Amino acid sequence: MNLKVKESELMDKMKTLKTYFGYDTFRLGQEEIIDQILSGRDVLAVMPTGAGKSLCYQLPALLMPGITVVVSPLISLMMDQVKALNEAGVHAAYINSSLTESQTAKALELAASGRYKIIYVAPERLETPRFLDFACHAEISMVTVDEAHCISQWGQDFRPSYTRILSFIRCLPMRPVISAFTATATERVREDILASLDLEKPFETVTGFDRENLYFEVQRARDKKARVHKYVEDHREDSGIIYCATRKGVDELYLYLENAGISAGRYHAGMSADARKKSQEDFIYDRIRVMVATNAFGMGIDKSNVRYVLHFNMPQSMENYYQEAGRAGRDGEPAECILYYSPQDTVINRMLLESKESYREYAEEELRLIRTQDMERLRKMEEYCTTMKCLRNCILIYFGEQAEERCGNCSNCLEEFEETDMSDAAADVVRCVRSCGQRYGVNMIAGTLLGENTAKIRNSRMDQNPAYGSQSKLSREMIREVIRNMLEQGYLRQTTDRYAVLKLTERSEELLKGEREFLIRYKKEEKQESIGKSKGRSGRKQEQNAELTEKGKELFEELRALRMQLAKKRSVPPYMVASDRTLRDMCTRLPLTREEMLEVSGMGEKKVKQYGEQFLKKIREASD
Ligand code: ADP
Ligand code: MG
Ligand code: ZN
Repeated sequence: MNLKVKESELMDKMKTLKTYFGYDTFRLGQEEIIDQILSGRDVLAVMPTGAGKSLCYQLPALLMPGITVVVSPLISLMMDQVKALNEAGVHAAYINSSLTESQTAKALELAASGRYKIIYVAPERLETPRFLDFACHAEISMVTVDEAHCISQWGQDFRPSYTRILSFIRCLPMRPVISAFTATATERVREDILASLDLEKPFETVTGFDRENLYFEVQRARDKKARVHKYVEDHREDSGIIYCATRKGVDELYLYLENAGISAGRYHAGMSADARKKSQEDFIYDRIRVMVATNAFGMGIDKSNVRYVLHFNMPQSMENYYQEAGRAGRDGEPAECILYYSPQDTVINRMLLESKESYREYAEEELRLIRTQDMERLRKMEEYCTTMKCLRNCILIYFGEQAEERCGNCSNCLEEFEETDMSDAAADVVRCVRSCGQRYGVNMIAGTLLGENTAKIRNSRMDQNPAYGSQSKLSREMIREVIRNMLEQGYLRQTTDRYAVLKLTERSEELLKGEREFLIRYKKEEKQESIGKSKGRSGRKQEQNAELTEKGKELFEELRALRMQLAKKRSVPPYMVASDRTLRDMCTRLPLTREEMLEVSGMGEKKVKQYGEQFLKKIREASD
C-alpha cells in the first residue's frame, strides 16, 4: 500500500475535523467508522445518543468525490443538521415536505450543479420522479441512513417508507457506499437493518454504551413535584428536560411549575402542531430553560447544552430511558439524569401498554409475543429503579456490555446504605406463596400478609391462609420491598405473563429453615425521606465547578450572554454558535489571539472567522 496516500488521507481527515467541526480529536469509534467508509466499505454503526454519529458520515461526505444523501426521519432533525452544517461552513440542503414545489426544484437544480456535498432527504421523497431524476444524473458517493432502526418493525419508531430505501439505491446507476446509524438496535433490529439495506460485507460496530459525563440517579419519592421544583430552582441557569409518562402528567407538572414561578415549555402529541413547534423552538433557542414533555419530544433535538434530564415517571423500557436520558450532555460536559420513581409508575406503565395503539396491527400470535416482550422490558426497567447496584453498570449490562468496577458517578455508588434484617417477613412470604398453591401475584400476597380485609382477599379465601395478617405491623411498601428483594436474590420468581404470578424457587426453602439471614439494603436518605440533596451529587458538583475559578465562572456567564446575542443576530440556536464545552474551554485557556482561539475545542476556521473576534474581545476585557 502506498504510504504517501495514507498519510495525506490522514492529514485531510484531521484537517477537515478541525476546519469544519473545530475538534482536534475523534471520539470513541468515530475514526474507525470514517476510515471504513473512506475505504469504500458499507457500515452499520450502533452508537449511543450523543456519541457523535453525525460526524461519522458528515466528515467522509466532505472527503468523498460526490454527494452524500442522508435519509433522516424527521423534518426538524434535518433542518437542525443542515443549519449546523451551514454554520460550520459546509454547503448542505434538505428536501422534504416543508419545501414548496419550486423550492424543491431550485434546491435540486443547485444540487445538480454541485453546490452541496450533503443532502438530507425524507424517505418518502426518494422515489419521487424529480428526486430520482436528479439522483440518476448526479454522482452519489454515499447513501447514509440515520436513525436506521426506523427500518425495522421491531424497532420502536418503525417507518414504512424506510423500507423503500433499498429500491431507491437500486435505481442508481452506480452503487454508492451505504452507511447506517442508530442508537438503539437489538440483535433483531440489527439483522433487519442489514437485510433491508442489503449491506455488502459491512463493517459493523457497536461502540461503548457508556456516557461518562452523565451522572445517573434514582430517587424514590412521594413528593415528586416538590423535588422536581427544587431541582429546577437549583439549576436555574441550565437547560433541562423533564419527561412525564402521560399528556395529563405533562400538563399538571407544567402548571405546577408555572405556579411556582418557573417559566417552562411543554410538549406532547395532544397539542397543535404550531404550539409544539413554538415550544420546541423556544427551548432550542434558550428562550425557555425547562421543557416538560412526553416521549414525543426529543427525536428532533440535537441541542448540545441540555444539562439535565429528569424523569418524573419511570419509562417503559431501558431503551427508552437511555435514549431520553442520553439527550443530556451531548457536548460531553457533566450532566445529570435523575429518575423519580414510585411503584405507582409500574401501574401507569402497565395501563399504557395495555392500551397501546400499535398492538392492533398484530395478529394474535404475534401480539402475545410482543406483549410478553414489552412486559419483560418493563420489568427490567423496574429492576433499574430498585437496584442497589451501580446504576451505570446496570445500564451497560442491559445493553450487553461488560461492566467492571462501580462507576463512582451514580447515586448508588455515592450514597450510603443501611441494612435491616427481614428474615421473618421473607419466611412468611414463602409460607404464604406455598400454601396458596403459587397462584397469585405480589398484590395478593402482600395484602394477605398485611391482613387486609378486602373482597379480593375474601373471595380467594386468602383470609384463611396461615400467613394471613402475620406481618400486619409492616407497611405495604415494606412488604413489597421484601418481595422485590427476594425476586432479585432468586428466592422467588415471577411468571412473565400478564398476571406475573409469584413462584417458589429451589432457594426458597433456605429462608424457611432459617439457613440464611435475609437483609434488605436501604439508602439512608430514603429512610428519612429528606428532601435535601444527596451528598454525592453536591460533592460532584463542586468538583465540576472547581475547574473554573470565581473569575472564570463570571467570564463563562458573560460568554454565555454573548453567545445568546450572536445567535439572535443570526437566528440560529445558541448551541450552534458554540457549545457549553467550547465556552468552558475558552474560560480555561483564555485565548488572546486568533491562533489561540483556533486551539479551543469546537472553534474551527469558519467559527473563528465568524465569531472569534467578538469572543476574544470579551476575554481580553475580562483578563485586563
Ligand atoms: P448522535 O447523533 O450520536 O446522538 P450527534 O452527532 O448529534 O450525536 O453529536 C453529539 C454532539 O457531539 C454534537 O454536539 C457534536 O458536535 C459533538 N461531537 C461529535 N464529535 C465530536 C468530537 N470528535 N469531539 C467533540 N465533540 C464532538
Ligand atoms: Mg443523531
Ligand atoms: Zn455507579
